[in-house]
Amino acid sequence: MTDLLIHGGTVVTSTAQMEVDLAVDGGKIVWIGSNYAGDRPERVIDARGLLVLPGLIDPHVHFQLPFFGTVTRHDFFSGTVAAAFGGVTTVVDFAFQERGGTAMDAIQARRAEADGHACIDYSLHAVFTDVNHETPLQLEELVEAGIATWKVFMAYRREGVMVDDGGLFALLEAGIRLPCVGIVHAENAAIIELLVDRFLAAGKTDTRYHALSRPPLAEAEATGRAVRQAGAANCPLYVFHVSSADALAEIRTARNRGWPIYGETCPHYLCLDASLYDRPDGYNWCMSPPLRAQADRDALWRALADGALSVVSTDDAAFDAESKKRGEESFTRVPNGIPGVETRLSILYSEGVAKGRINVQRLVALTSTNPARLAGLYPQKGNIAVGADADLVLFNPSRQTTLSLENSHMLAGWHPYEGTRVMGVPVMTIAGGEVIVEAGEFKGKEGAGRFIRRRIDPEIKRGPVL
Ligand SMILES: [Zn+2]
Repeated sequence: MTDLLIHGGTVVTSTAQMEVDLAVDGGKIVWIGSNYAGDRPERVIDARGLLVLPGLIDPHVHFQLPFFGTVTRHDFFSGTVAAAFGGVTTVVDFAFQERGGTAMDAIQARRAEADGHACIDYSLHAVFTDVNHETPLQLEELVEAGIATWKVFMAYRREGVMVDDGGLFALLEAGIRLPCVGIVHAENAAIIELLVDRFLAAGKTDTRYHALSRPPLAEAEATGRAVRQAGAANCPLYVFHVSSADALAEIRTARNRGWPIYGETCPHYLCLDASLYDRPDGYNWCMSPPLRAQADRDALWRALADGALSVVSTDDAAFDAESKKRGEESFTRVPNGIPGVETRLSILYSEGVAKGRINVQRLVALTSTNPARLAGLYPQKGNIAVGADADLVLFNPSRQTTLSLENSHMLAGWHPYEGTRVMGVPVMTIAGGEVIVEAGEFKGKEGAGRFIRRRIDPEIKRGPVL
């Protein structure tokens, strides 16, 4: 018997859209077509009126991340449950190298926190915080073990995770011979520190100074520096959470030069405005880079449509209301980050597709296919094809809902989009051939998610191919 037949839906990939049926068996898609005549399916899923998309990939989440003296509320179970409700079937989190330890030690420690808990497949990016003469060898070991992406922070020097230009360039050089992709958090630490100190000395501790101390200049300067180094080393570089038109311009220039540079943004940079920082509870939206202005959002939407940006991730960092409240004392005390792992699909569909800014195939590219390719999960994931993992989301494009804490599965105790009406709701999530969310209920299992070894397609190196 075949496990599932998904019948009557509109299947959408990054390049095509058609009304076809899918058969699923043993966790894989085994047949695509019409008039199924194979083994009797154990279950037929009626997908009439629904879009059938490849399960979303979130290549940027921070579950149980200790930072700013607190820890994010999503662990690998609750975080992946919230993800599943949002149609996400794979997440990539991070393993932070400890000072004096190796990147591989960090991966092992992090796997101990995730294995047996994640309910969808997951993997980890290696975060280097201490680059030295052993780093090139460590990178080789990581790539061999299926950790095909590494990250450095160009900011957060005072928090002890920043890597300087020498470290970044050493990693980019080490990456020349390896099938790997580098990732940066691009903000200029020195400019930010100067501005933070100046504001604090003047007694300016309100939330709005969070944004003013991290101006587009700080982001654009670091982005320009990183993409030039990556271009010189010819190492693919993935720039996380691009928030400003100025940083985006650096990415466009680099891509026009033929360099293998890929940019990402997040729903909050597309939909939320810096004026939130003037609210009494504005500290809730402190993240880095900060929220920007309308002109920046317009530029980001254009880039999603014309291809200058390749990915929309969430940067989920579910700091709770209590730790966010420290922002009442000073903007420097607030943990940076907001929850988002559940809401990306509805927000992007509503604000992007329903408003005519991007089409639904582009939505699939940005949230599933491109992150799968950049992270080395493709073609096993990020696609609907015979032989691919049966990771799917069924999406009702005409149902509306209101985003709120009450109907959310994210655990921060506050909701960044409270009261926002959205058009389009994920109604069923299938991961590895199992229905894990259905009719608003979680049906998956803690620990069912596997650690996925990843391999980068060498084509990623040959210029901006996504
Ligand atoms: Zn992040």
